[in-house]
Formats: sequence, C-alpha cells, structure tokens
Amino acid sequence: MAVTKRGAAIERLAGGEFDLLVIGGGIIGAGIAALAARNGLAVALVDKGDFGGATSTASSKLIHGGLRYLRLGDDRLVRESLQERRLLSRVVTPHLVRRIPFVFPVYRGGPYGPATIQTGLVLYGAFARSRLHWLASGESARELVPSLRVAGLRSCGVYADATTHDGRLCLANVRAAEDAGGVVLNYAKVRELRIVGGRVVGATVVVDGESVVVSAKAVVNATGPWVDLVRRLEDPAAAPTIRLSKGAHVLVRLDEPWEAALTIPHDKVRVSFAVPWEDMLLLGTTDTLYEGEPSAVEASDEDVEQILEEASVAVDAKLLRADRIRSTYAGLRVLPGGDGATARARRETVFHRGKGGMLSVAGGKLTTYRRIALDALNMLGLRRVDRRPFPLPGAGSRASFDTRDDVDPRIRANLWNHYGTLANAVLAPAAEDPDLLRALHSDGPDIAAQVVYARDFEWAVRAEDVVWRRTTLSLRGLAQEATPLVEELLDPDAALRVRPQV
Ligand SMILES: Cc1cc2nc3c(=O)[nH]c(=O)nc-3n(C[C@H](O)[C@H](O)[C@H](O)COP(=O)(O)OP(=O)(O)OC[C@H]3O[C@@H](n4cnc5c(N)ncnc54)[C@H](O)[C@@H]3O)c2cc1C
Repeated sequence: MAVTKRGAAIERLAGGEFDLLVIGGGIIGAGIAALAARNGLAVALVDKGDFGGATSTASSKLIHGGLRYLRLGDDRLVRESLQERRLLSRVVTPHLVRRIPFVFPVYRGGPYGPATIQTGLVLYGAFARSRLHWLASGESARELVPSLRVAGLRSCGVYADATTHDGRLCLANVRAAEDAGGVVLNYAKVRELRIVGGRVVGATVVVDGESVVVSAKAVVNATGPWVDLVRRLEDPAAAPTIRLSKGAHVLVRLDEPWEAALTIPHDKVRVSFAVPWEDMLLLGTTDTLYEGEPSAVEASDEDVEQILEEASVAVDAKLLRADRIRSTYAGLRVLPGGDGATARARRETVFHRGKGGMLSVAGGKLTTYRRIALDALNMLGLRRVDRRPFPLPGAGSRASFDTRDDVDPRIRANLWNHYGTLANAVLAPAAEDPDLLRALHSDGPDIAAQVVYARDFEWAVRAEDVVWRRTTLSLRGLAQEATPLVEELLDPDAALRVRPQV
C-alpha cells in the first residue's frame, strides 16, 4: 500500500538519529528548526497540535518595533525588532510582511501630548533607519483612517510599521525546515524525555495513538505556555520560570478601506490597536494575568466588551456594533516570572538550560523569532551558525504570478499574499480540475485548491487546520458554512500518495 506523507515522516522520526529535536512548532520552534536544518543539522520538529496552533496564530499580527516599549525603556528590543522587520520584509518573507502607516491620535486629556509623541517617533524612526514619521492634523489623518474620531483630537503622530499573517509565517518556517531535510510532524505530543546518564537524548512522542521513541543529541523545548510543564519532564522539581498573560482580539467588518492602522493610547503604558487586516479591522488586545490550563484560553464576553470600549476612544462607534463582529480569539503571552502588572512586564525571551542539558526557550516576539532562533542555536553550541537571513519558501518575484489572468483578481491577490511564489503550485492541480478554483465561501477569497495544497504540502490533518490557520475562513466568520466542503477535500483517501515536493 502507498505510504502517506505523514506515514513517511513517522517512519523517519522513529528510525532517525537526530542532531536536534525541537518540541513545539509555534514560530519559535519552527524558526529554530528551519535555521538548524538550513545549517546542515539533522532536525526533527514535533507539535502536540497543529503547527502554529497556539500563541503563534493568536497574536496582533504585527511585525513591529513596538512604540510603547520605548516608554518601558526597552530600547534594545525596539532596535532589534525594527532591524528584524527590515530583514523580514526585504529578504526573508516579503510576501507576508505588509508595510502600512500607523496613526497615533493625541486627544485632549489623553496620556501623551504632541511633543512627547514627536520625540518618541524621532527615536523610533532613528532605530528603524526611516524618516517615515511626522505629526499630522486630525483632518489629514482622517484621509488615512476614515472612521477616526476627531472630537477632542489635538493632532496625530504618523509612523510606519507592518502587518503579517502569523499562521502562514509559522508554516513557511516549518516548510523551510522540511525543505532542508528536517522531519516535521504535527499532532505528535512529547509525553516523556529520554534521559541517559543524566543527559536528555530524545523523547517519547505519541503519534496517532502510538508511542515513537526519538533519539537526538540535543533537545529544545519551545512549547510556549507549556514550557514549564515540559521542563518538569526533565526535572520534576524544576521551579516555575514564567507567568502567562491573556491577550484577546476581535475582528469586525470594514465597509470602507483604511489606508492606515491606529495605535490608541490608554495610559502611560498600554496601547491598543485597530489594524486593517484582510479587508477587516483587527482590534485588540487585552493584557490580564492568566492562571488556567493554556489550551482553555478564549476571548470572554468581558474581553470583547473591553476591546470595543477601548477602540471607541478613537474609532467611530458605528463600526464597533456587536453585529459587525466576524470572529474573536485569544492567546497567551509568556512573560518572565515576577510580580506586578503584566502590561509593565518586559517582553523578554526566557532561556533556561535544564540539568539534563535541554534548552527551554519561551516568550519574546513573533517579530524577533529569527534572532531568538540564532541565540538558541548559539547556546546549544552545536556548530557555527550562518547568521545571514535566508529567503523562506514563497519569497521571490511576483512577476511570474501576476501574468495569470485566468484567476479572479481578488483570489489572485489572496494567493500571492499568503503563498508568494508558491501560489503557482497551489493553482497547478486546477489546470486538470478547474473545480478547484471555486470559492470555499462566497464571502471570502479562499478557494478549494488551497485545501488540496494544505493537505498535500502543508500537513493539514483536520478541517480546523485549514479554516483557522491555512486560510482566512475562521477569522472572517465563514468557517461553519465552509467546513463540509473543506472536510470533503481533505478526505484522506485522496491523499494516499506521496507527491513530489514543488
Ligand atoms: C495577545 C498576543 C499578541 C501578540 N502580538 C504580537 C505581535 O503583534 N507581534 C509580535 O511580534 N509578537 C506578538 N506576540 C508575541 C508572539 O505571538 C509570541 O511570542 C509567539 O507566538 C510565541 O511563539 P512560541 O513558538 O514560543 O509559542 P506557541 O506558538 O504557543 O507554540 C508552542 C507550541 O508548543 C506545542 N507544545 C506544547 N507542549 C507540547 C508537547 N508536550 N509536545 C509537542 N508540542 C508541544 C504547542 O502545541 C504549541 O503549538 C503576541 C502574543 C500575544 C499572546
């Protein structure tokens, strides 16, 4: 019988002697696996759920320096993040990073005056090596943000930052790890670590109900909110290193396009965002201490209420009606352990070397994942690491794709924005089966060919993998109606073959 791609990965996982086993396929684990594989290491990457299924698809979807971190005195983080923004948008994954202006409104009685904002923007611009920052009047800012509330508005700071699709950024790294020879497997949970002579030398992974023993010279624990749980597999007495803070988001319908996003100040430390994203408006986020089971995190009614109320400081109330909500989601920030308000805690990465040698890495930002991966590999001291940024699969010139006039422009733009140069490969089977060009839902730009591609080349196992992370269906609030068709297209019988990589 033909072996599925998943079956082949399970066989390689069980039989392999790896240099590195990475536990956790969020952006940090995927980034480490991609970098290690690219540097010639034999790498295995496993995730207990779907790749990017936790924090890495629950972010504010910004590739940014974080203006507010200047206020917290974290200049180093801002400088590094802005450098990474530049590298990601120019080299690593240009199709997934969208530069847009951000408007920072200064209202009478608000936490900042125009002079403070101007000083902050000059510093931010210097770190970004960019002059794209200025003070604007309310009227000219309204040309960028048509629903900006102008009552009480003194002026606005305008600066440049960027948005992304966090789930697809994560998948691009998983794909890079696999393309460079790594074994990658989702729905593969590390249940225990292999410890020989006091050293961690692999793990027992539960895959499709079976236990698979994986051998590796080094193990990285990149399990985000679960990092301390996995550390306790190495040392049951390991003390906690982190605390968790919940951040929720709301997506609302947008009738008129916004040319810019809003950064809305609430006090001297907290801001929230209103960001045009995939033809909708992404609002958030909250910042509250979370002590429950990580997988149970969700946006509560109170979170949604808070987000809409905070957005109303700067956004016309008509846009914020409950009946305009398309979807909500929530994720968990991993913050260094300590006391005090989570909003004030530094967004540092927590590295920890366990007594059996396992390296645990958690926290930090999506924006700086590449730098975190470089630091992690250096700490492992496995080999000299090439620090130069490399293009992820899909990075490249748009010219070859734009010539396709057989595809509706909205669908074409959606494919380019999510797959880059791989968009041609997504469309390839539609040459024989034009039915694959049909929309998965009449209100969204995603098409059937994406499900087939997700099944054959992007490790999609369940419908939720497709509707939440490989298309925009769930975030648009279209998943329920589209799921039967997605399930039909995911039919495992249709995937019972190992296709060559494209
Ligand atoms: C609300 C919010 C907004 C944010 N906004 C931004 C932003 O706009 N820009 C930005 O740069 N950063 C942002 N961040 C930060 C960024 O999202 C995170 O730093 C990043 O996603 C963390 O990725 P991770 O890989 O460490 O964790 P995760 O994505 O949580 O991945 C950990 C993975 O480990 C897996 N795992 C756990 N246990 C096991 C096990 N036993 N075996 C196998 N696998 C296991 C999980 O299934 C999970 O997929 C935001 C964070 C939050 C919470």
